[in-house]
Amino acid sequence: MFESLSDRLTATLKDLRGKGRLSPADVDATCREIRLALLEADVALPVVRTFIARIKERAKGAEVSAALNPAQQVVKVVNEELVGILGGETRRIQFAKTPPTVIMLAGLQGAGKTTLAGKLAQWLRGQGHTPLLVACDLQRPNAVTQLKVVGERAGVPVFAPHPGATTAGEAEGAGVGDPVAVARAGIEEAKARQHDVVVVDTAGRLGVDEALMQQAADIRDAISPDEVLFVLDAMIGQDAVATADAFRAGVGFTGVVLTKLDGDARGGAALSVREVTGQPILFASTGEKLDDFDVFHPERMASRILGMGDVLTLIEQAEQVFDAKQAEEAATKIGSGELTLEDFLEQMMAIRKMGPIANLLGMLPGAGQMKDAIGQIDEKQLDRVQAIIRGMTPAERANPKIINASRRLRIANGSGVKVSDVNQLVDRFFEARKMMSSMAGRMGLPGARKNQR
Ligand code: GDP
Repeated sequence: MFESLSDRLTATLKDLRGKGRLSPADVDATCREIRLALLEADVALPVVRTFIARIKERAKGAEVSAALNPAQQVVKVVNEELVGILGGETRRIQFAKTPPTVIMLAGLQGAGKTTLAGKLAQWLRGQGHTPLLVACDLQRPNAVTQLKVVGERAGVPVFAPHPGATTAGEAEGAGVGDPVAVARAGIEEAKARQHDVVVVDTAGRLGVDEALMQQAADIRDAISPDEVLFVLDAMIGQDAVATADAFRAGVGFTGVVLTKLDGDARGGAALSVREVTGQPILFASTGEKLDDFDVFHPERMASRILGMGDVLTLIEQAEQVFDAKQAEEAATKIGSGELTLEDFLEQMMAIRKMGPIANLLGMLPGAGQMKDAIGQIDEKQLDRVQAIIRGMTPAERANPKIINASRRLRIANGSGVKVSDVNQLVDRFFEARKMMSSMAGRMGLPGARKNQR
């Protein structure tokens, strides 16, 4: 998502570099390029107009700062305005003073509501909440079952109007067929069982449909949600703005969740929705798995679009998967040249837990320029490395020096690779260990030995 927009904007702004002064013609030309890039990315016309007008206005005064050259100032202005149209500050869920906090999901069918319910439930749990999912999508035949599946994956109970239910409320078959009654009963269930957040999944519609819109409004009136989240598929392009507008008029919402940001659509919806509806984007979904989900940070998204990388997200993800003590131990071992293949395997698995390596690299500054190389990264190769190390005995992993020819043959056979693959891995490991250790020595890291072999 945003790739071609990002490429164009980065290229346009790069052209400005090296110019001491910006003439009005430079500013005009840059604005023209930015305008085209945004329109091509499907950003809504009124949003593009406002954006360009603000940039022009601010770029005119770009010669007065002492700290930045004019080109840098334009980049700064574009970045700030981009953050602005994405919503400015990060907007968090507003929790109710008296629990439970009620979050209602609304949106078109297929937007990703049910999937989102699971993601949100898992995320809330991770934040120390005790959510309950409520299945009010009684329109789509499989929606209730689907919600139960994602609920189970997220480890969060689901309240659903079905016989054969898992909770007392369900067993009573609370209002089968009537989503408003199910929603009410769901809230009661949450109170009785002291869930502090309730996420209510509602029926979607294929297009903007009066009857279903009314149903969503009725559910809203029955449960007075603290947040109504409009779930928007970022891949639907120009239609997004009209859809968002229809939901704003028909149901109203307090925030937006963008889904399918992993797709390769042009992403204009994402850039327009906040400005057009006046409501902030709270979360972004980037895949089908429960983990493919994060709080939406306007400033990080803007720097990603402008090719400035998203190092903060990367650091946060790393903090989640790396154990600080383990990482420190590994660093010490690197310094002393004692890193083992076991350590290497552990670190590699931790990194891969953060997602595909290509995604991680994509968050680094300058990733746009490395796109081809990143595209060539083969996860299967990494699988192979893992398989080879797993094929070794603990003694071999701890002391790779003992891996002689016959051991290499055994490892290769056991992990289904060629002996040359094993040779390559072991040789590279020794080289890398030596290199990292001498780097650590030069950087004065803990455990670093002065004299490396
Ligand atoms: P609902 O009708 O709004 O409840 O939509 P669903 O939750 O059933 O999602 C519709 C389809 O989109 C499913 O196949 C999901 O797996 C898929 N989906 C949901 N969110 C994402 C996302 O962020 N990225 C991708 N690639 N697919 C998603």
